[in-house]
Amino acid sequence: MHKTIINERSWVEIDLSALRHNLSVLKRYLVSGQQFMMIVKADAYGHGALEISRTALAEGAAYLGVANPEEGRLLRLQGISTPVLVLSPSLTSEIGTIIANDLSVSVSNPDFAIALNKAAAKAGKKVLIHLKADTGMHRSGMDWQDFQELWQQAAKLKNLEVEGVFSHYAASESDAEFSRLQQQRFNQLVDSLPQKPRFIHIANSNAVVHGLGHCGNLVRLGILAYGVDTENCLIYRERQIKAEEEDSTSSLQPSDPPAPQNSRTPELLTPVMTFKTTLSQIKSIRKGESVGYNRSWIAPEDGLYGILPIGYADGYDFLLSNCGLVRLKDQLCKVIGRISMDMICIDLSALESPKVGDVAILLGGSDPETRAENLVANFGGNPYELLCQVGRRAKRFYFREGHLLHSVPLSRRDFVPDDFSDSKLNQVIEAALAQRLQSGEIGELIYREILRNFFYNKDKDIHYRQAFRHEIAFSDSLKAGYYKATTTLQYRKVLSSDYFIVACADSAEVLQRYFRRPDVEYRWLMDEAIELDANSFVVSKVMVNNLLLNTRISHNNGCVEINCAHPELARLLGKSVDITINTHTLYPKNSHQFSVFISELTRGVDITFRYPPELGRVDCVPVFSGQNKYPTVSHEDCCARVFSRSEEWIFPISGVVFAY
Ligand SMILES: *Cc1c(COP(=O)(O)O)cnc(C)c1O
Repeated sequence: MHKTIINERSWVEIDLSALRHNLSVLKRYLVSGQQFMMIVKADAYGHGALEISRTALAEGAAYLGVANPEEGRLLRLQGISTPVLVLSPSLTSEIGTIIANDLSVSVSNPDFAIALNKAAAKAGKKVLIHLKADTGMHRSGMDWQDFQELWQQAAKLKNLEVEGVFSHYAASESDAEFSRLQQQRFNQLVDSLPQKPRFIHIANSNAVVHGLGHCGNLVRLGILAYGVDTENCLIYRERQIKAEEEDSTSSLQPSDPPAPQNSRTPELLTPVMTFKTTLSQIKSIRKGESVGYNRSWIAPEDGLYGILPIGYADGYDFLLSNCGLVRLKDQLCKVIGRISMDMICIDLSALESPKVGDVAILLGGSDPETRAENLVANFGGNPYELLCQVGRRAKRFYFREGHLLHSVPLSRRDFVPDDFSDSKLNQVIEAALAQRLQSGEIGELIYREILRNFFYNKDKDIHYRQAFRHEIAFSDSLKAGYYKATTTLQYRKVLSSDYFIVACADSAEVLQRYFRRPDVEYRWLMDEAIELDANSFVVSKVMVNNLLLNTRISHNNGCVEINCAHPELARLLGKSVDITINTHTLYPKNSHQFSVFISELTRGVDITFRYPPELGRVDCVPVFSGQNKYPTVSHEDCCARVFSRSEEWIFPISGVVFAY
């Protein structure tokens, strides 16, 4: 199906194209004006509710169906905003979740409706409800004979809106007569309502393909959409339609339903889920020896068998002991012995040359024998259950048209960052901030403006500067109208490259380019009137620890770049080093201000500005973002100083303006 290399013990592949295909097959059964609800309860029958919902919505689903409010809440948290109906009866303790997440709920009794209405009124909201009628299943729902009462009571409640009326078939795939009785009761009940709600629904997926879906304007699609042909029914039905079409020219009428056949046409519905694992060991066994717990399988001949690293704890049913079938390469291998918690054994005697690492298909795939409906037939199990339990330890990989879209780890109670992609982690950080600050807006702002600068790209290490000291001294120069500016910059940081650049530009636009380059450690803006060259901007000394770096000057479109390097820097890569950069240059007397920028995340700042007495009093305006916006400012003897404690963080886009 794909060339992606998956390094897992076992994994589940979800083919969203198969879901699309199955939905398109099922949609052909809908009558005009009918819509469908995609049932995504139990994490979409084990397929992953979010991805299944997204694809179903793209295929036109009008509604999503879940079993309980918590499942609905999860969809909301993951950004699903379309209507979601909670199918099972909810508890009064879940009313808060229902209202907060704008879920629609099924209502089977007046007491719950009254409690829900009260809470909705308090929250100033209107909750959409679907009244459930029991037409013969005798599980949840209000008895069809008493349904009018429920309707009347619910219709009176101001903060509830009866959006739907529904019921459920007990045996849509196996008992046509009883299903028709249910349908009749439901139709009667709907006819007796003084007002028709927006949605009327009774059919699940098997009802749809069994001709029981024409009642109502909504159908609820589950198992068949997942490509599990529970009762072989779809195939019969498709054949019937074909036969009818073929027979329409002749006088022959189809009478009895076609007899079950062994030759299946699995192309009609495609399994969406495939559960895979890898062969982890190959062993030989002598005739008469046994395999596994309780010695339930005895080798009839000398032979080969293999170990697969999955067991009932992974959702591979214990009842598949000695009767499961696994596809390895092009062969079907029998499960031999009992299923263990974490391992199963398969007979390899039919295989040409099995190898450790070969991929085995446990469920799904193109082989009829490993389809859920056939696998469970081996032990009288239930395909719905098998889907829900499979892959308990496995990561899910989502595919569309053979391409891997993304993977989703098993839900865990503990958060393990390695499980997630960068984009997912970004979402998590943003959501955590919003939660902590109790404001999505501020959370988003902090995330976007500050954190994303650091975390955006995983490859970009977050290196910060420590013990940042910057000394600037103005003194007389030989050039009229200019001070000589002598600067010393010192800080500690983790060295990430074996060279760096000091840049001096003659315009702000050119300098801007150097703010974006990660290899630039220091920048200076030269006055326009001065010719920029190696004499006007001098890098007098650059040191890393005790190492004096070699400097090489180059000119580059309005900028002097001083490349600072040393062969021994390579040795210091990844280590925390002390960097010192000394320069002297010229600064215009008529500028009346001098700015120092802090362009990287910095911890502990000490900036001093020494000036000639003729400047008079210098004002010092720190513009700090970070933990402490108000560093200590001091003045003495023609020296202004801005100082923050060594443990305080200062964010980029900070600086100090000295004005004179
Ligand atoms: C689960 C469920 C369905 C879906 O049934 P399938 O047999 O999987 O199509 C439909 N309606 C209700 C109320 C359900 O609980």
